[in-house]
Amino acid sequence: MAGKQYKNKDCAYCGGVGISKTADHVIARSFFFESDRGNLPQVPACMKCNNIKSELEHYASAALMAGSNHIEADRYRQEMVRPRIGRNLKLQREIGLVGNEARWLNVNGIIQPMHELKLNPHKLQELVRYVVLGLYYFHLGKPLGGQFYPDVKMQHPDEEPKIWASVAEWFPDGCPKFGSNLGRGSFIYEGAQSPASEGFSVWRMSWHGVRLHGNNTPPQGVGVWWAFTRPTEEAVKAAEGHESA
Ligand SMILES: [Zn+2]
Repeated sequence: MAGKQYKNKDCAYCGGVGISKTADHVIARSFFFESDRGNLPQVPACMKCNNIKSELEHYASAALMAGSNHIEADRYRQEMVRPRIGRNLKLQREIGLVGNEARWLNVNGIIQPMHELKLNPHKLQELVRYVVLGLYYFHLGKPLGGQFYPDVKMQHPDEEPKIWASVAEWFPDGCPKFGSNLGRGSFIYEGAQSPASEGFSVWRMSWHGVRLHGNNTPPQGVGVWWAFTRPTEEAVKAAEGHESA
């Protein structure tokens, strides 16, 4: 079913030339209700990248949906999380679900249940790195390339205007822009590519409106992932060497 169009292409994730074996959903189907799985972005992937990413998705989909603040969060927990981790105590503990009851918080005048989970930021960050590479390929038609890498950070919403102001000049009006809202708020992203360099792009995404863990975030503090695709240190050094030569 995956079709020839995803075989023997460059892998969207590692950039390996002609080594893709399969189509990979950039945002795994397991993050969405079945009725929301049409038209999810797909890219070619090699088996190695596909396997590593699947492992990360297995953890992340359970963790993020358990802490979902989606409009249908309860349905996600009932229909998607419970069957998947019901007997998996290890995973339940890993995401801090054991003994975790929702706290009721007043968010802008609306009382909402908030689940605070022990999310593993390193695993999520690693998955976001893959997702950025996948979205880059999906929108620009080729891998990011080894000279660049996605620099990924979870950001507090209050910080966002500052982050954007510091880079806005590199992404002027009219530059290529991307974005979509998948699964009615399950995954929302936007991105832009700089005219300065095809490998320089910015991405911003949120999963299920999941909050940062910790007491230092206000209730309205929905965690937002930001990523910049930047030149690697080696590429910068090589360019500097070239200039001074
Ligand atoms: Zn690969």
